[in-house]
Amino acid sequence: MTVVIVVVGLARPSAQVTMARCEVCGNEYDKAFEVVAAGLHHTFDSFECAIHRMAPICEHCGCKVVGHGIEVDSHFYCCASCAREATGGDEARDRVDHVAV
Ligand SMILES: [Zn+2]
Ligand SMILES: [Zn+2]
Repeated sequence: MTVVIVVVGLARPSAQVTMARCEVCGNEYDKAFEVVAAGLHHTFDSFECAIHRMAPICEHCGCKVVGHGIEVDSHFYCCASCAREATGGDEARDRVDHVAV
């Protein structure tokens, strides 16, 4: 998925301040930003609101997946531990395991 983030206020430094309303909490903020994902535009005043609206949810523990997460058979988990417990397999590994040190 391609995600584009545009900072609405900072994108027009010399023009008048542009206010944008966060679609999660409704806050109007001059430094709101726009996220384009799968062709849809979303406006947020903070990354917290963006995460609330857009982050996938771990199918095992239910937490918001803010990092890389892990995908097994089209199911999304926050970490390899959740993936292993949910799938009963031991093939799920965090990406960090593959990094050569
Ligand atoms: Zn907000
Ligand atoms: Zn989890």
